[in-house]
Amino acid sequence: MDILKLFLVIPCYNEEEVLPITAGKLQEKMQALIDAHKISSDSRIVLVNDGSKDKTWEIICELHKKNPLFRGIKLAHNKGHQNALLAGMMTVREECDAIISMDADLQDDIHAVDAMIEHCYDGCDIVYGVRSDRTTDTAFKRGTAQGFYKFMKWLGVDIVNDHADYRLMTRRALDALAEYKEVNLFLRGLVPMLGFKTAQVPYERGERAAGESKYPLKKMLAFAAEGITSMSVRPIRFVTVLGFLIFAVSILMLLYSLIRHWTGATVTGWTSTVVSIWAIGGLQLLAIGVIGEYIGKIYLETKERPKYIIEEYLK
Ligand code: UDP
Ligand code: MG
Repeated sequence: MDILKLFLVIPCYNEEEVLPITAGKLQEKMQALIDAHKISSDSRIVLVNDGSKDKTWEIICELHKKNPLFRGIKLAHNKGHQNALLAGMMTVREECDAIISMDADLQDDIHAVDAMIEHCYDGCDIVYGVRSDRTTDTAFKRGTAQGFYKFMKWLGVDIVNDHADYRLMTRRALDALAEYKEVNLFLRGLVPMLGFKTAQVPYERGERAAGESKYPLKKMLAFAAEGITSMSVRPIRFVTVLGFLIFAVSILMLLYSLIRHWTGATVTGWTSTVVSIWAIGGLQLLAIGVIGEYIGKIYLETKERPKYIIEEYLK
């Protein structure tokens, strides 16, 4: 590799407030990197409009008109951060040596890009941006995120701690990622599966430069559930094990009640009956629910619907 042709890929959903600020900062950063000969002069910033309802696309068109550094991809619908990111990466992967994905709100320190590029020159195919401290997140978000990472690890999913989707991937890694055809996308779990030489770059996560989070609690929980069921079938196994254990207990109970019957101590308890009906009923519903989650997933996967549809590409 001579000099790196780098594309930044940035999903944007209703980001009219922050996008002009972000664009200015990134343009400055890219120019500095180009001037320092760290990246080639035909490197680009690719803004993916994820079906925004505000002026985001107009802003992107304007940026593109003024400066060829900016490219725009317009998705036909709002497909969520993961799909928007994938759309961007897959659209440009054949034109560049590497991409760096980051959020539109500048929460990720853009100066970590330098270290990522260095690692790329050292032969890494994937470089993870890792948050060194999360003091700017609310205690609740921090706690739930940590719990989520722990739970994922416990389920046997290879996931990088405190890494969101701020990362560098070379074309080779992107080509490998393109081989994963699944519709339910959880990039944080997929990328570590690719292998390759990787590195981590710590950075401090700041506040959103402007605007509000596009990830309210409801979307966050949905994303966590998506991550778990996309990456692991262990919850189904738990259901099986649980079912087996409860079956074993019920046999013991049967023996116990028979013995009680034979010894004449037949004072039948109302409480135990009612409690066990509720307990077993609840567990069964839970078990069916978990299995249903996976069946729903199979249903979505078999349809092989497109993950995104590109309406326009401003090159
Ligand atoms: N985003 C997107 N589609 C969506 C929701 C969010 O492309 O449906 C983008 C958003 O514009 C931002 C990134 O995903 O660039 C991360 O979103 P946000 O900063 O709101 O999430 P948070 O940092 O609060 O978790
Ligand atoms: Mg953010």
